[in-house]
Amino acid sequence: MVGVEEADGYALLVFPHDAGTFTVAFVHLPGDRALAGLRRVPVFESAARIMSLGAAWTDPNFAEPISGVTVMSGLRNMFRPLDPAVPVGLHALGDTVCTTNPHFGRGSSLAVTHALRLVQAVAEDPGDPAAWRDRVDAWVRGELRSWFDDARQLDRARAAAWWAAVDGGAQAIPSMSPPSPASLPRFVLLAAAGVDPTVATAALRHMQMTDPPEALDAVEPRVTDLITQGWRPSRSPGVPTRAELVETISAVSVPVR
Ligand SMILES: Cc1cc2nc3c(=O)[nH]c(=O)nc-3n(C[C@H](O)[C@H](O)[C@H](O)COP(=O)(O)OP(=O)(O)OC[C@H]3O[C@@H](n4cnc5c(N)ncnc54)[C@H](O)[C@@H]3O)c2cc1C
Repeated sequence: MVGVEEADGYALLVFPHDAGTFTVAFVHLPGDRALAGLRRVPVFESAARIMSLGAAWTDPNFAEPISGVTVMSGLRNMFRPLDPAVPVGLHALGDTVCTTNPHFGRGSSLAVTHALRLVQAVAEDPGDPAAWRDRVDAWVRGELRSWFDDARQLDRARAAAWWAAVDGGAQAIPSMSPPSPASLPRFVLLAAAGVDPTVATAALRHMQMTDPPEALDAVEPRVTDLITQGWRPSRSPGVPTRAELVETISAVSVPVR
């Protein structure tokens, strides 16, 4: 990924591809009808140009579009381990077992690790297909499952915060005073990376899957302190609010086809 700009209820991402091509993508909740117009080219272009990242990458002096706007939906977190009744010797790997939100860019790493677990199991016990199944399955139900849960947890918290923006703006951070039993949404922990080097290190190690997902919990007290001192996650400069984006979209007239 080249970059991401996230606001209250939507995000814009830029992905690099082969041969000098790239994708500019808006992400919003499937049920957010006010942003559905983004699938129309004039609306998409107007909206992209009020974002600093979008403006830079859709500048006609820099790039030319080679397709219209396409919609990609159904990017679900999914975990579907092999049924134990499946014949020994048949192995499911990669996306057939688990998909996680591509926003995190983890699918290929998990798929390759999954394949390497099978290679390792075969190398360790070449004559015992039941042992291959057991070893790969233990990894699937342990480490792979933990990354699926991590993606699911992050997505649930982000979707709740985005819906709050659509519905009129409830706070994304649980009450912290007096001490609250609610744990902080993980995207708030990750957002604090911008203001605290220790959180930044933990967040990078989390995003790159260097540490297990639960390692991120260690910085929660630090982020709680930051919140107590008044810090709040905020949009980067140049990123409009969802309400401003909706206003821009409403002002664009789209020719009737
Ligand atoms: C929009 C998007 C962005 C992503 N970005 C990232 C990223 O930045 N980083 C990252 O790590 N991951 C990313 N991923 C996830 C990553 O692409 C997948 O997790 C990864 O490709 C899974 O590998 P796989 O081999 O399991 O499946 P695939 O890569 O889907 O390979 C399966 C192959 O099997 C073929 N096939 C299917 N059915 C048959 C059949 N009946 N006969 C023969 N062949 C068949 C398919 O054509 C395909 O080539 C992204 C995914 C999406 C959707």
